[in-house]
Amino acid sequence: MTAKFKTDSETNLTADYRPLELEQEIRRFWEKNRIQQKVAEAREKKNKGILGYVEGPPTLNGIPHVGHARGRAMKDLRYRLKTMQGYFVPFWAGWDCQGLPVELEVEKQMGVKNKRELLQRVSEERFVEECKKTIMKYHKQWVELDSKLGVFIDQAKAYWTFHDAYIEKEWQILKRAWDQGLLEEGHYVVAYCPGCQTSLSNAEIGFEDSYQVVEDPSLYFKFKVADSRNEYLLVWTTMPFTLITDTMAAVRPDADYVKVQVGNEVWILVKQRLEPLMKELAIEKFKIVQTLDGKSLEGTRYEFPFKDMVPRQAELEKSSPLVHTVICEDFVDVETATGVVHLSPGNGEEDFFAAMKRGVPIFAPFDDEAKFTVEGGKFCGVFARDTDKMVVEELRNRGLLVEVRPVRHEYPTCWRSHHKIIWVARKEYFLRTDKINARVLEAAEKVEYFFDETKNRFMSFLRERKPWCISRERVWGAPLPVWKCRECGAKTVVSSKKELLEKALEKPSGDFELHKPWVDRVTFKCEKCGGTMFREDFVLDTWHNSGASPYARFIADDYAKYVPADFLTEGVDQTRGWANSLLLEHVILTGRPEPPYKAFLFQGLVQDAKGRKMSKSLGNVIDPNRLLEKYSADATRFYSLRKCSPIDFINFDPNELGRRTYHVLSTLYHLNRFFLQNAEFDNFDPRKHTLEWARKAKQVKNVESWLLSKLQGMIETYTSRLEKCEFNGALALLEDFVIESLSRLYVPMVRKELWTDEPQTLDRRFAVYATLHHALWTVTLLFNPVTPYLSEALHQGVSRRLDPTLPESVNLEDWPTPEADLRDKVVEEDFETLFKCVSLVYAARQSAGLKRRWPLSGLVIVGPKEVCNALRTVSELLIELTNVQAVEYATEKTPQRVLDEKWATASEGDIQVFLNPHRDEKLLGAGLMRDLARRVQALRKELGYMPTDVLEAVRIAELDDESIRLLEPYVSEMKNLVRSKELLLQVSRNEASVEWHESQLDEKKVSIAISGKKAI
Ligand SMILES: [Zn+2]
Ligand SMILES: [Zn+2]
Repeated sequence: MTAKFKTDSETNLTADYRPLELEQEIRRFWEKNRIQQKVAEAREKKNKGILGYVEGPPTLNGIPHVGHARGRAMKDLRYRLKTMQGYFVPFWAGWDCQGLPVELEVEKQMGVKNKRELLQRVSEERFVEECKKTIMKYHKQWVELDSKLGVFIDQAKAYWTFHDAYIEKEWQILKRAWDQGLLEEGHYVVAYCPGCQTSLSNAEIGFEDSYQVVEDPSLYFKFKVADSRNEYLLVWTTMPFTLITDTMAAVRPDADYVKVQVGNEVWILVKQRLEPLMKELAIEKFKIVQTLDGKSLEGTRYEFPFKDMVPRQAELEKSSPLVHTVICEDFVDVETATGVVHLSPGNGEEDFFAAMKRGVPIFAPFDDEAKFTVEGGKFCGVFARDTDKMVVEELRNRGLLVEVRPVRHEYPTCWRSHHKIIWVARKEYFLRTDKINARVLEAAEKVEYFFDETKNRFMSFLRERKPWCISRERVWGAPLPVWKCRECGAKTVVSSKKELLEKALEKPSGDFELHKPWVDRVTFKCEKCGGTMFREDFVLDTWHNSGASPYARFIADDYAKYVPADFLTEGVDQTRGWANSLLLEHVILTGRPEPPYKAFLFQGLVQDAKGRKMSKSLGNVIDPNRLLEKYSADATRFYSLRKCSPIDFINFDPNELGRRTYHVLSTLYHLNRFFLQNAEFDNFDPRKHTLEWARKAKQVKNVESWLLSKLQGMIETYTSRLEKCEFNGALALLEDFVIESLSRLYVPMVRKELWTDEPQTLDRRFAVYATLHHALWTVTLLFNPVTPYLSEALHQGVSRRLDPTLPESVNLEDWPTPEADLRDKVVEEDFETLFKCVSLVYAARQSAGLKRRWPLSGLVIVGPKEVCNALRTVSELLIELTNVQAVEYATEKTPQRVLDEKWATASEGDIQVFLNPHRDEKLLGAGLMRDLARRVQALRKELGYMPTDVLEAVRIAELDDESIRLLEPYVSEMKNLVRSKELLLQVSRNEASVEWHESQLDEKKVSIAISGKKAI
């Protein structure tokens, strides 16, 4: 036997798949050859269309976490897919640089607790400087992640939300809003964080982690009905401090209420809650004295209990006759509590509207830290929620407390600082997006969301139609471009730096940028009264910054080309964040019901292996930059896309990266190596020995037709699933094709044909290579959007090695499309039948204890005519795969002899297989030979021999005479099988002094020794 393989093969695919090294090498290749730029340039120059893209800018207030890695893998997947399909995508980075998150990060670094302390200790200039330093520090880590992860996003073309040019564009959007009457100042009840000292948007209150279980007092108390002897309204609350700002009580007009005698008092509450409430309060003796509808309670006056402590409340009674009376409102809940609620328009949104529409004054005596001001009387200087206990005590002293106990409930906290949110009426600026809600909804309906669940979530959020509070009382942000006259209150909205400088009373000197404190120093002359106009001291909600990106990040020509964006994807929390602000600002800007994106995929978030949220306190946060030092980017990408649907929350377990994921990628790698080693030995040239050539040369067998047909179907379904964002389903197909169709089925079916170097079968080998080449090359391209490193390595190490005229990078290749003339449904079905029969034979072997490696003499298949006809077309393979010497088909009835001789059998549906279990000496010898050959092969691998290495000698010792006699006829076949020049069968180990390795063979022990030169 001649050495078939070159022992010094120079393939740059190492013997093992070592992804970390491979990725480092490919990254160097990409950088050195400017591949990313070349790909973008090539598509910009020549494309079949432009697909706009706007980066959802990560906030540079912290390092990326593994959830970002998943999101970025999805973005890059789409980019590479569309690029290979021939489109140009402006895949340019962008960074969210301003706002509360960054400020809080800097405050933490500087060791200050709140804004006031900050402004006392450091100047605004210095603070702004620190904010810029901080974002640059984090920016480095984000770029590092993108580079490691192999994300081909263009960092050089990134937009930065803090640049003047960007802020100007935001101002232009606000100017549009102002012109349409959508930008308003007003008092409004806003969610306010006393820690961050700023209001929060409704969107922020809805963030995933903002609701926390907190303990509050659950309080039943009484308001005495004015001028009555002993009548009381029974009220419930969990926020006692709101009693200080109470101005009205409300009942449901259409509900039945009762007056109930309890001891010496008469209580008023809703009828349906009487029994459960008395039970809850453990009051056994009570009697209904009157039933009346809610409406008839309207106008009832009650005594505000703290008039002595809060003198302002007495003044309020004089300013409006409705203060401290009962009003009727439909929002009053009669299912829980007492059906009588007290209203604090300064501390509740519904309360606020109830007061506004009745002209009742809003009483909100709070400062910036949510402490009561002088108007709060005795409570002055105390933080609102800290007065809860005082209020309860005062009620107790006045005999108005019915019951108080702690209650644990979910309550919104600040998503950043986790302070309990309070609602207070404050002066704010609003985008009246509620007025354009119909257009916003119409725009949102035009978007493709891929999955109904996420669409519904987004639409129902939009239907809340709340005005958008865009003002923030902070420092590091895009300034609100509204100047207001101190004398007459006239306002003007500025839309550019140029306009600002033209209007300025004094030209600013030295450094000037569109940030606090510089803009605050600019004043204008009021056109109405000649007074001085000062800037309204707010910065913009950071969501307004990122929401402006489609307009703000492009120059005018590009805006027209790239907006609306073709496809965006972000975490599902962005339904309330970026997806929302993008949509609102685009409708404001254009005035039309048009979305700025055609498709939006909301991703599920990433949790830890046990399904818990990742958090610093649990210590389970995964830093992807560290993760990628241990595991490969390809594995991370493949895993995070393969494990579940993109909209599902993924339980990310790094340990899993080394298992199935590694196995799939490693299998693809080794299939390519196997192909290359064989193909190069025969000097296969893919340009000459094409599939077309193979067909003309009549060298294509049905096993190739089957594989190629299956591949075409896979390309089609895989592509369509990627397009529909069913990434996990798409990758399941690709994985199945590699592991099952290629590795487990096709290669074993042709392996034997490749083991020879006979010139007369060379053409047949070329046909197999052409098939493997086509399949592996196609699969490499299909893998590229998911595992770009491995695909590039295979493109360089296999495809370009065989054909140096191919494009410089895999990313410059065209996306595979299914070829109709390679599809053959009939062959696919025949093979399905074949594989079904093979499994049946395996089952029969197992039930009779006949190892698969043991050759058996006969197989009989009993089944319908179609089945047998299908199998006849693949009889040769059937014999090969089932390891039998002959097969017979019976369509009529089971042959009597297989029943008489008790053949092993198995059946499924209308197919039954019978296997002759009787083995003569020839079969026993062949079986033994296969058993031993398998052990030799395992040993070869264990000792580091390449599959291509030819051994000098294989020795097998401690065989009994009987075994040696049985084996003798098979020596030559075995030599071929284990690729050795010599094969020696020995009784004792002493016959040669070599290194022996023990191996178990059924009940017996044998010893094996091998010798030869290794290729590497
Ligand atoms: Zn906060
Ligand atoms: Zn004026």
